[in-house]
Amino acid sequence: MFNVNDIRKDFPILSRKVNGKPLVYFDNAATSQTPQQVIGGIVDYYSNHNANIHRGVHTLSQEATDLYEQARQKIQVHFNAKFSHEIIFTSGTTHGINLVANGFSSLLKKGDEIIVSALEHHSNIVPWQMLCERTGATLKVIPMNDEGELVMTEFDIMLSENTKLIFVNHVSNALGTVNSIEYIIEKAHQVGAAVLIDGAQSSPHIKADVQKLNVDFYVASAHKMCGPTGVGVLYGKEEWLKKLPPYQGGGEMIAEVTFEKTTYAELPHKFEAGTPNICGGIAFGAAIDYMNAIGFEVIANYENELLEYATEELLKIEGLKIYGTSKHKTSVISFNLEGIHPYDVGTILDKLGIAVRTGHHCAQPIMDYFKIPGTVRASFSFYNTKAEIDTLVEGVKKAKMMLS
Ligand SMILES: *Cc1c(COP(=O)(O)O)cnc(C)c1O
Repeated sequence: MFNVNDIRKDFPILSRKVNGKPLVYFDNAATSQTPQQVIGGIVDYYSNHNANIHRGVHTLSQEATDLYEQARQKIQVHFNAKFSHEIIFTSGTTHGINLVANGFSSLLKKGDEIIVSALEHHSNIVPWQMLCERTGATLKVIPMNDEGELVMTEFDIMLSENTKLIFVNHVSNALGTVNSIEYIIEKAHQVGAAVLIDGAQSSPHIKADVQKLNVDFYVASAHKMCGPTGVGVLYGKEEWLKKLPPYQGGGEMIAEVTFEKTTYAELPHKFEAGTPNICGGIAFGAAIDYMNAIGFEVIANYENELLEYATEELLKIEGLKIYGTSKHKTSVISFNLEGIHPYDVGTILDKLGIAVRTGHHCAQPIMDYFKIPGTVRASFSFYNTKAEIDTLVEGVKKAKMMLS
């Protein structure tokens, strides 16, 4: 049985005060909080096992290597990758995307086309623009509608034999829309294009099965899944990872080095130059264990309850508008109060101990679409409560009163 009060005890930060009030943490779409089980693992690693991996014959190095490789296997099982060497540790989603974008530099030519969506995070727009500049390929954008959904009929039209790559997020961080990635992947493969899915925002809520999705690349960040910052994962199909050149040169990624020629290490090490975030990778594995012990379906159901409750209660406030009204959403609510700047609302909420995000959420094209400077974004996790949502609603009412 899911008991949120028990769950909350796992998260030390949830019992602290902010500005004299109990913390209400609703910025989960930016980063999630960390349970004691993961924090304890980090302390244990540095207290008992810290060493460099894959290099030493000594016991500590072997222990650290084993822990790191076990974490890779946990991530493999979690995302149901066929091989553990298809799991590349990265510093996060942004790194994973850049790794793939860089790899495609040598595979694209003028006349090729890349499709992205109007709902992307900046980290999923800028690397492709840079890739187009390097290769002469053209960038096309799947437009969105007023609900904050992608217009799939437009996608059908822009897809052609020239399409080589498609990059779409599974869930939009700014609006919470869940995109039809199954459809996009199937259509893309019909014209021979590869698909990279940005799973940064979906992975805390939806367990992706990369084999069932038949996706070519999938990226995620540990810090949005109850893990630490500075570590993430790139899943790539073996055939693609073999095709892509290495991203960075250095130690760990080589088989043999002479000044005439270097040969690269096998997967996954080919893409893991230098000493990685060893402890972070291990903690990522622990975070995945933690979330799976609760269960992703349980998490999604509970978060959906929070989403429905908050949507209903917030909409009772006159002059409040929610952006992103798709039926398929994760627990993200982007909103504004009529005539009031989101930053001012966020500042008042912070005084009340409520952490929300304000601004363009690294997704300026979405804000341009709605002709707004930004939104207030409240994003819920499985450790949040309806009572906290009541606190938010009261806070928004108070902000409205003070600012209008
Ligand atoms: C957070 C996020 C990113 C960037 O993740 P980093 O961990 O900062 O690299 C990219 N895409 C989406 C949809 C996100 O939510």
